[in-house]
Amino acid sequence: MSEDDSSAKRDFIREIISKDLTTGKHDKIVTRFPPEPNGYLHLGHAKAICLGWGIAQENSASGSEFHLRFDDTNPSKEEQEYVDSIQEDVKWLGCDWGKHLYFASDYFEFFYDCAMHLIEEGKAFVDEQSPDEIRAAHGTVAEMGAESPYRDRSIEENVTLFKKMRSGDFGNGEAVLRAKIDMASPNMHMRDPIIYRVLHETHHNTGDKWCIYPMYDFAHPLEDAYEHVTHSLCTLEFEVHRPVYDWVIENCPVPAVPRQIEFSRLTLNYTVVSKRKLLQLVEEEKVDAWDDPRMPTLSGVRRRGFPAEAIRNFCTDVGITKFKGVTDVARLENEVRKLLNRDAPRRMAVLDPLKLVLVNMEVGVAEEVEAKNNPEDESAGSRKLTLGRDLWIERDDFVVEAPKKYFRLAPGRAVRLRGGYIVQYVGHEIDPDTGEVSEVQVEFIPNTIGQSPPEGVVCKAAIHWVNASEAENAQVRLYDRLFDDESPEAAEGGFMSVLNPNSLKVIEGAKLEPGLGAEAPGFVCQFERLGYFCADSRDHLPSSQVVFNRTIGLRDSWAKK
Ligand code: ATP
Ligand code: MG
Repeated sequence: MSEDDSSAKRDFIREIISKDLTTGKHDKIVTRFPPEPNGYLHLGHAKAICLGWGIAQENSASGSEFHLRFDDTNPSKEEQEYVDSIQEDVKWLGCDWGKHLYFASDYFEFFYDCAMHLIEEGKAFVDEQSPDEIRAAHGTVAEMGAESPYRDRSIEENVTLFKKMRSGDFGNGEAVLRAKIDMASPNMHMRDPIIYRVLHETHHNTGDKWCIYPMYDFAHPLEDAYEHVTHSLCTLEFEVHRPVYDWVIENCPVPAVPRQIEFSRLTLNYTVVSKRKLLQLVEEEKVDAWDDPRMPTLSGVRRRGFPAEAIRNFCTDVGITKFKGVTDVARLENEVRKLLNRDAPRRMAVLDPLKLVLVNMEVGVAEEVEAKNNPEDESAGSRKLTLGRDLWIERDDFVVEAPKKYFRLAPGRAVRLRGGYIVQYVGHEIDPDTGEVSEVQVEFIPNTIGQSPPEGVVCKAAIHWVNASEAENAQVRLYDRLFDDESPEAAEGGFMSVLNPNSLKVIEGAKLEPGLGAEAPGFVCQFERLGYFCADSRDHLPSSQVVFNRTIGLRDSWAKK
């Protein structure tokens, strides 16, 4: 993200931060991104990462920090695979945490001490009601909750029982530690929230050392305080939890006072961004994996060929507000197009091949022609291609009966081969079995490379082609949006009912210009006239198994729908 980008978007959080620096409330800023390692990161997370990292970056002169902290306090759903993928994704996004990589599970002893402190202050108690009893006594929005019969236990008894919870004397669900706040609070989260529970499960970091685990509302403010986070930036659904956050900070022996500020989540049309739903797509095999190129995960869009810079630019462009809006996914796609148009080299590939024979060219001749790598950028240079008697062209670049506005190849017409000759129709053949055109014959007009057509020849279009004798065969995967409904989550039958049946079309036997098959996985280019494509990072094996993914078409084909 360039400095221009970020300073152009002053939002309410950046206003608060700059004020805190000028008034001397803080001399440096510390932000964090706190993923729970229970899934892969998605585009929504990118917004939160770019915000936290961007703010630290903009204030780097004062020594500001961006922390990557795993909020790994729940052993049941967390896995090492996710810990690894999250780091890879944040790094790829370009948001470097430097030496500030942390795990909340490293603070378990600190959380325990804070809980003990609350008990000793008479502000927490061990509740032995069953989970159902606790739920029933919680009250409703309209009705206040009822105090637990265990609420007035002595401090000594609570200390003993909490130690027993830790040492494994209770089974799952047999006891919890609750903060003593206010069962009559209109804010349900303030009604003696559970801050510790018994859970006999192995943790990916601490193994079997613990059988009690802190709850999010208790652990999160303590994690922030422990790391001296100054501004704890999170999404709006945490707004109602803020009173608990502040209560924990006020009542525990913390080394710093962080401030929680909420902003609106990224919500995209034609997309779902919720780990739970993305997991469901993976588990029900609607997609190949978390990194399926149709997934809105960072690993998915990376495999699809989206540049990290496009995601960062998109996040900057969307901005930070408290307004709950839906962002058009086309804005992201346009950022991708903009960058690839600037950076991606041009190549030629034919996806639906039709044989074109240059009847006046001798068999075995290969004429060298020069093709520009980017017609809009001379510095991208050019490459040499050969043109032979037999070429492949796109099936729909020839029609037997041309409508008025059709300027490509047809009986009686001439067309230019990109970077090469103008060719004139001579004849065509039809496959008697399929009724389809099987071959088109043309004559090339000498001296027309880089020259305008001679007198009497009308040529209004240039088509792409690949020399048949050198073409490389490839599998090409045409990806499109995963959902064909604008609001998949609001769909009557649920988001699974509006999957786009055409989100993946696999083409076997596409013809690529020579050299493309040897490119490394991840190589991105424009297939002229077709869109942007990249060599698949999982399945493409240079020179032996050539697999390209369509990253994005040249134009937004959804805009008109
Ligand atoms: P999900 O809703 O997909 O399950 P989550 O909020 O449970 O995501 P966490 O790993 O807990 O995922 O989130 C880490 C951080 O990412 C949180 O601070 C959260 O506010 C932020 N975040 C999650 N989703 C979005 C989103 N759509 N837009 C912006 N920030 C998000
Ligand atoms: Mg969450």
